[in-house]
Amino acid sequence: MVIKPKIKGFICTTAHPKGCLMNVEAQIKRVQLQSKIDNHSKINNVLVVGGSTGYGLASRIVSSFGLGANTYNVCLERPPKEGRTASPGWYNTAFFEKKAIECSFGAQTIIGDCFSDETKNEAIKLIKKDKVKINMVIYSVASPKRVDPESGTIYKSSLKPIGRSVESVTINPNTAELSKVNIDPAPQEEIENTIKVMGGEDWKRWIDFLEKANVLSDGFLTFSYSYMGPEITQSIYRQGTIGQAKLDLEKTAQLITDNNQKNGKAIVVVNKALVTHASSAIPILPLYVCILYKVMKEKNCHEDCLDQIDRFLRNKVKWNLENSFEMDDNQMIRMDDLEMSKDVQSEVKRRWDNIEKDLENADLSLIDQEGYLSDFLKLFGFGMDLDYEEDVSEMVEIQKVF
Ligand code: NAD
Repeated sequence: MVIKPKIKGFICTTAHPKGCLMNVEAQIKRVQLQSKIDNHSKINNVLVVGGSTGYGLASRIVSSFGLGANTYNVCLERPPKEGRTASPGWYNTAFFEKKAIECSFGAQTIIGDCFSDETKNEAIKLIKKDKVKINMVIYSVASPKRVDPESGTIYKSSLKPIGRSVESVTINPNTAELSKVNIDPAPQEEIENTIKVMGGEDWKRWIDFLEKANVLSDGFLTFSYSYMGPEITQSIYRQGTIGQAKLDLEKTAQLITDNNQKNGKAIVVVNKALVTHASSAIPILPLYVCILYKVMKEKNCHEDCLDQIDRFLRNKVKWNLENSFEMDDNQMIRMDDLEMSKDVQSEVKRRWDNIEKDLENADLSLIDQEGYLSDFLKLFGFGMDLDYEEDVSEMVEIQKVF
């Protein structure tokens, strides 16, 4: 079929298999072009929960092509049907696995709800069948809802401020139209529900299940991703519902470290704001990201998900028998160091204030709306150097899917 982007709000309901293939291939090549990461601690089996797009996909790519590990991936993606494309994460996974297997890395995927015990047991079954131990678990899930495996209650996460409404500005990245937004605060129940979905409970549950099943190696490592952000995004992010969930995630790292019998260590990695499926849904963030991209590109320090994860696994961890980490005072690895540098943030703030004060006459050359839109389309395999009039098959299979 001929596949074109169908954009509805902040999502695109179609995905282009060839575009996704090009994206994954390009990311793999970038890792292959570098030297292998010194992996003296022999990280050879990695489980990525949420490894089909964004930061999770980058983690899977660097784990295999940088560290040389076999990977297991758990994700929730839609397979294709005749006449209907798969979700991009499905295509990404299919092409990642094809390439990884060609290069002799183990690569298996479980398509399922990571919050359910059934999916956890399914993953354990696979790992046990391979008779391996997992040395690294990367938890990179971003989800709008979670079904509690014990009570069956459905919790929905929200992206709202706490305590007071917030008036700010945003951009429609498709049209570059700037507008004011007013977001009402979340009631207490929504704060608690967001913590249930995006907090640390499920991360810990994964580790508990894996430990109980005896599939974790001694001294295993587990990482999960968080975000801090500057003053501009505080009201909606760090001091909002999602910020409470991230706080919970950060506390959970200590709980996991203190409560496992395998001498394992859990660490939160604070990443940079980037265009992903998850972040495009966060109010205010698109305009902030458009400005941030422009400033960081001008200063030659812009990074994408792959750059971030490559730098994290290559430079922030010393892979030896006593793995050591470059962390801040709160025991977190800061990959947002460049985003949060004074230099970058003072320029972002200057431009934000300038735009906010007069939306109608805002100077659009201050922002990278084109870069944002191009990255957004790329997530779905569009806007690449491809003939989008060409008839392509939407029916792509993942080699090792369960
Ligand atoms: P993403 O939307 O690209 O990826 C989300 C992943 O979660 C996908 O693999 C998806 O299949 C999986 N997933 C969602 N619901 C699932 C479910 N029920 N069961 C199984 N898998 C499920 O998101 P992302 O932006 O890469 O976010 C990953 C993590 O990084 C999140 O914790 C996010 O908060 C964090 N982070 C993101 C940014 C950013 O700007 N994008 C910045 C810092 C930290």
